[in-house]
Amino acid sequence: MKKPSQIKIVIGDTIVNLRQFYQKIGNYCIEEKINCPNFFAGVSLPEDLPYVNFVTEDEKYNAIVLNTNIKRADLFEYAVKAMSSEAYVIDNNGGMFEAFYNDFTDMAEIYRNASTICEWLRIPCPQIIVSKNAPLNGCAYNTESGDKTVWIHIKQKESIKKMYCTLAHELRHAWQHKYYNEKYFKDYKMFDKDSSHDEKVAYYLQPAEIDAYAFSFCFMKTIDPNYPLFTPFDEPVDQICSRAKEIWNELATLGIVK
Ligand SMILES: [Zn+2]
Repeated sequence: MKKPSQIKIVIGDTIVNLRQFYQKIGNYCIEEKINCPNFFAGVSLPEDLPYVNFVTEDEKYNAIVLNTNIKRADLFEYAVKAMSSEAYVIDNNGGMFEAFYNDFTDMAEIYRNASTICEWLRIPCPQIIVSKNAPLNGCAYNTESGDKTVWIHIKQKESIKKMYCTLAHELRHAWQHKYYNEKYFKDYKMFDKDSSHDEKVAYYLQPAEIDAYAFSFCFMKTIDPNYPLFTPFDEPVDQICSRAKEIWNELATLGIVK
């Protein structure tokens, strides 16, 4: 058998729907009052190795890798076994998980919220990664056709509610890709650190971004009714506010919000 240090962790080559798994494992950890590790499903491991459990010396980061050959319905069972299995100790920056490392210790609520949002949006739940070392605040990675989101990367933030905001925003992009790819991404503009102020404004005020900010505002209202409108600018933006009203009404029609 290969040593865990020789296993190459490739995330995102397999499309997995983790909606039910995230719900179950989040609930389980909360009920059992244990910290929920970071799970990586759909990883190619040797056939006879269903999972590997990794923990940093300071125990802040715990990652469990689940073999791609585990059926979706069996993920929870293997995850629970993996949690009580002997862990391989990695260095305090996450070792081979450095790019995915966080010192956040408990993923239960992130996973439960991801599952809820995906249920609202009727989309498969991609792999959710919270990372301290992410170069960007949050982004959805998609297959070439753009319609399937394989994983979502969220930069660890000082407040968990800000992370929920990013989670809802990025999952809304996954919804746009699945159902309205042409509409939202035909003329999608990007920007980088060298872009001008006007280019940044154009980026944030394009339909895909307005819709994603508006949706995340609606989701946050159900978590904390007093949560402020989170916009790319420091003030409310008319387009985001009016899109949020439309989305809220659609969610109410579906019986999701009151
Ligand atoms: Zn966005």
